[in-house]
Amino acid sequence: DLFYRRLPKVELHAHLNGSVSFETMEKLIKQKLHLNIEHSMTAIRSGQRRTLDECFQVFKVIHQLVDSEEDILMVAKDVIQEFAADGVKYLELRSTPREVTETGLTKRRYVETVLEAIRQSKEEEVDIDVRFLVAVDRRHGPEVAMETVKLAEEFMLSSDGMVVGLDLSGDPTVGHGKDLLCALQKAKNCGLKLALHLSEVPSQKDESELLLNLPPDRIGHGTFLHPEAGGSDSLVDKVCKQNTPIELCLTSNVKGQTVSSYNKHHFQYWYNRGHPCVLCTDDKGVFCTDLSQEYQLAASAFGLSQESVWGLSQQAINFTFAPEPIKQRLEKKWAELRPQVL
Ligand code: 5GP
Repeated sequence: DLFYRRLPKVELHAHLNGSVSFETMEKLIKQKLHLNIEHSMTAIRSGQRRTLDECFQVFKVIHQLVDSEEDILMVAKDVIQEFAADGVKYLELRSTPREVTETGLTKRRYVETVLEAIRQSKEEEVDIDVRFLVAVDRRHGPEVAMETVKLAEEFMLSSDGMVVGLDLSGDPTVGHGKDLLCALQKAKNCGLKLALHLSEVPSQKDESELLLNLPPDRIGHGTFLHPEAGGSDSLVDKVCKQNTPIELCLTSNVKGQTVSSYNKHHFQYWYNRGHPCVLCTDDKGVFCTDLSQEYQLAASAFGLSQESVWGLSQQAINFTFAPEPIKQRLEKKWAELRPQVL
């Protein structure tokens, strides 16, 4: 539907390697035929479901395909271009710095290459403002988390405002947040904004209590925070008192089977309370979606008017980690575009 494409949008929860499109994947698969990787191993098509565990297997396959500076530059530039083509005006990309001995890739070069892709896109006048969140993979434990925070801090200071925060992600069934608190606290103290995956699976109540005390600046998913989903009033109270925006990814949660259907997505719980909510894609490549489609799905599952959809996209500007002048620039853009869209 044209309305959703034309709607100016803000994307705040997008993992770089999960966002690689079919077309870009095609190029990578052709370059690396010896790996014997097929499309069916890198994407979950419509109507298909996977367990969350199987989703994490998909990322391992993609990481085999994206393993050099060249790959990262291409993937990041393509992803930025695709978000822009979908009407995303402001994007916070997140990605886990990786080192690959065989190709000489280091974590530092990894971050530098993503930033280079953002710079090149800007030079090419792609109509989108892009920022970067350095991601901590919880699977790798506290030492790696601390190293990643130091790297993120360094780039926050030297990247001209491109690195704005830290993400905590990775398989939620592995490790415990208490071991990562120290690194996350350090990140917060040095001025990095925190976007944390929280209560993505049912067994994380204690961890969520701890992480909410930091507190985070945004919550990823929060699927099992509320009492109806096995969470608790105390968790909900904390989130509400802090007014922490929640990043909601409908297709990702349905295809990853942590939510049974679109109609039952916890978007409804939080949206009905007037809590700050932002619709996001999570992994547009893996889950075969885009942000326009996510807005459309939410609108049809929850009966949102076009005016409400507009409101959702506009309020997301406030939840970005961008400095105030950038938010004002975005507000202006939304005001200018409104008559053409609504
Ligand atoms: P990358 O960080 O390599 O650019 O993107 C892929 C990585 O993002 C995965 O290996 C995983 O750590 C993280 N990721 C992507 N989607 C999800 C998700 O739905 N939940 C969690 N917890 N982590 C995710």
